[in-house]
Amino acid sequence: MPGFELFGEKEKAEVQQVLDTGVLMRYGFDGMRNGQWKALDLEKKLEERMQVEHAQLLSSGTAALTVGLASAGIGAGDEVILPTFTFVASFEAVLALGAIPVLADVDDTLTLDPDAVENAITTRTKAVMPVHMCGSMADLESLKQLCSKHSLLLIEDACQAIGGSYDGKPLGSYGDMGCFSFDYVKTITCGEGGALITNNTEFYQNADHYSDHGHDHIGNDRGAEGHPFLGYNYRISELNAAVGLAQISRLDDFLEIQKRHYTIIREALSSIPEITFRSVPEKGVENYSFLSFYLPSAQKAKAAQLALGSAGIDGCFYWFDNNWHYHTKWDHLKKLTSLGPLSKEVVEGLPDYSASNFSKSDHWVGRNISCLIKLGWSAEEIQKRAADMAKVLKEIL
Ligand SMILES: *Cc1c(COP(=O)(O)O)cnc(C)c1O
Repeated sequence: MPGFELFGEKEKAEVQQVLDTGVLMRYGFDGMRNGQWKALDLEKKLEERMQVEHAQLLSSGTAALTVGLASAGIGAGDEVILPTFTFVASFEAVLALGAIPVLADVDDTLTLDPDAVENAITTRTKAVMPVHMCGSMADLESLKQLCSKHSLLLIEDACQAIGGSYDGKPLGSYGDMGCFSFDYVKTITCGEGGALITNNTEFYQNADHYSDHGHDHIGNDRGAEGHPFLGYNYRISELNAAVGLAQISRLDDFLEIQKRHYTIIREALSSIPEITFRSVPEKGVENYSFLSFYLPSAQKAKAAQLALGSAGIDGCFYWFDNNWHYHTKWDHLKKLTSLGPLSKEVVEGLPDYSASNFSKSDHWVGRNISCLIKLGWSAEEIQKRAADMAKVLKEIL
C-alpha cells in the first residue's frame, strides 16, 4: 500500500516549485504565487481520476470524514452506522461532531454486513459508513438500496482502497460521498492529507467553507469574505498538496505493481486447500493493497501470524488482536474515556456495547490474516516471499 516507498524526483520537483514561490497556503497570495496552485491542481486531478464533480482536499483522512459528515448536516445525537473492523478514525470523526457511532457486524467481505446494518437502523440514523478496509469493499449495491429505502446517506471511507472500483465506478464515488487519506502509509501520500469527493454540489460547497473557518471564498479579499455558518480549520498546505500531486500521477502505476505482487502471492497460497480468501463482491475490483485470507480457526490464524513473523515475513496482520482496528480493543470508545466531558447526546445515545454480540465479526476477523503488499519488492524477493509464505502456512496447517 505505501506510496512512501517510491518518493522520488517528481515529488521533490513539485515541492521545490512551492518552495520557490514561498507561498505555502492554498488560498490567496495570488500575486506572489507565480501561478502555482498545488491544492487546486490536485483537486482537479482527483475529480478526473475519480470521475466526480467535486473534490475537496483536507488536512487528513480523519478530517475528510469529519468534514464530510458535517457538510451533510450530521450533528449532535445523529447516528452513523459503521463496522466493527475499521480504524479508530471512523468513530473519532463521528464523535467530533457530537454524533453517535453505532457499530455493526462485518461479514466475509471484512466490511459492513448489509443485514447487520438493517438491524442497526433507528429513527436517529442519518448515515451508513462502509469502510473499504485493506483494499476491498462491501456489497455496496445492497447498502445503497438500504440507504435509499430509509433515506440515509451512504458515505464511503475509501482511505485504504483508493484506485479500487465497484460496478465500474471508482471506490469513493459510488455513495453520496467518499473519503480518502493521504497519510504517510496509504497507497498515495501527501505526508499528511485527505480528500472528500462527491457529485453533490451543496455538500461540496459546505465542505469548502466548513474546512476553512466558514469562509465563503467569494471575491479576492480573504479578510472581506463572508461566513455563512460556523466552520473549523481542516486545510491542507501547499507543500503537502505538492507531494500528492506527484503521487497521483503515479497511482495507476502503483496499482499495477500491487496487483502483480498480490497475484503472485495469491497463486502460491491457492495451492493450500485449508486457506480461503476474503470474498470480494462480484462487481468489485480491489486496489490490491493487501492480500487477506482465512485460516480454518482462530487458533490457526494466531499460529499463522506467529509463524510468518518468526520466518521473517513482515507485514502480515492479525487484526483481531490489534489495538487500532478492531472493536475488542476499543475500551476507550465503549467506556467513553475522554479528556473532558462529552455532550449529553453522546453520553446518553451510545449503545451499551457490553451487551452487544459481534460474534459474526469475530467469526471472520478472528480467522483472518491480511498481508501488506509492498511496491518495492524485486521480482526475486516476491517469488521467494510467496514460496516462503506457502511453506510456513502448510507447516502450521
Ligand atoms: C488512515 C485511515 C483513516 C484516517 O486517515 P488519516 O489521514 O490518518 O487521518 C480513516 N479511515 C481508515 C480506514 C484509514 O485507514
